[in-house]
Amino acid sequence: TSGSASTLQDYAKDKLSKQMVELFEACQQQACDLTRKETCRSRLQKDIQSVFPVARLYLTGSSMSGLGCRSSDADLCLVLRGSTQGSPDPIHILTVLQAFFRPLGYLEKIHLIRAKVPILRFREKGSGLEFDLNVNNTVGIRNTFLLRSYAYADLRVKPMILAVKKWARHHQINDASKGTLSSYTLVLMVLHYLQTLGEPVLPSLQKDFPECFNPSMEIDMIPEGPRHIPPYKSQNKSSLGDLLQGFLKYYSSTFRWDTQVISVREGKALPKNKSAEWRNKYICVEEPFERNNVARAVHEQMKFNTIKSKFAASTQILAQSKDLNALLPVRATI
Ligand code: ATP
Ligand code: MG
Repeated sequence: TSGSASTLQDYAKDKLSKQMVELFEACQQQACDLTRKETCRSRLQKDIQSVFPVARLYLTGSSMSGLGCRSSDADLCLVLRGSTQGSPDPIHILTVLQAFFRPLGYLEKIHLIRAKVPILRFREKGSGLEFDLNVNNTVGIRNTFLLRSYAYADLRVKPMILAVKKWARHHQINDASKGTLSSYTLVLMVLHYLQTLGEPVLPSLQKDFPECFNPSMEIDMIPEGPRHIPPYKSQNKSSLGDLLQGFLKYYSSTFRWDTQVISVREGKALPKNKSAEWRNKYICVEEPFERNNVARAVHEQMKFNTIKSKFAASTQILAQSKDLNALLPVRATI
């Protein structure tokens, strides 16, 4: 309709916003990147089925959500059903897979990471493409579909998230294994900010379309694309640059880390209750399906202080000069 913004350029008339679009266009995952990941997934699935006939392999994470860069890894979820009674021990399965992968010839640097969700990490020879494979962590398939639906709900979501990921990476606060923020946590923080603006850029999709995000939906019924979800018609016409500035400012001064929990599921901040999930945690970000804390990796006061100081310093920097290069070296990033 007349007057309503419909292209990314409508949100990028100023310098900072234009720089964000430029970064996005240079870095976002290309169709050929996804094809390469998909080809390798299907080859792996076929090979794994010779050991575990009922195995299914799903591509998850930023490769599938539309929130990835060209350099993003490929997250894989191996779903085993009907193999044993009860749930198979993931460490055991991954150890078997590790031994099976070694002689295959097209994978290298295969190693097991014994995290809360254990993963097998490896690279595809030649392309250098990195994979993180988990076993039966099916919540990742559900939340990837949720993230993908948000990514397509408004044109500004993808460039915003890409800029925030690059910013956090540049400032070394994007590594859960080092006590800072996982990419997944950062994505939920951006979505929360966009949901809670006076004039929201995003709704709660779980509230608006409960049938699409039913947490007990069968894995195979989870759609690949957000076909059934119409784009959200936001009255908020803020530019990308204003949103980035607002995001940094929100977490510098508005959001209360000590009393609030980020809930993308509810589309608002919830008060911290006394449950063990939130007690004595510096940052509380609710997993939209399992409702545990995805930011539990931040467990050191020092790391928490570093994260807060990066938000505060970057807010100051943007107030002085609305130039993305002042926040992260754009050219070097591209
Ligand atoms: P990048 O582009 O940096 O690889 P990403 O969007 O793939 O980022 P990751 O943090 O690598 O994000 O997580 C990959 C996927 O794993 C997420 O999209 C999500 O589906 C799942 N995931 C990660 N952390 C959690 C968690 N704490 N709880 C549930 N699912 C998680
Ligand atoms: Mg990833």
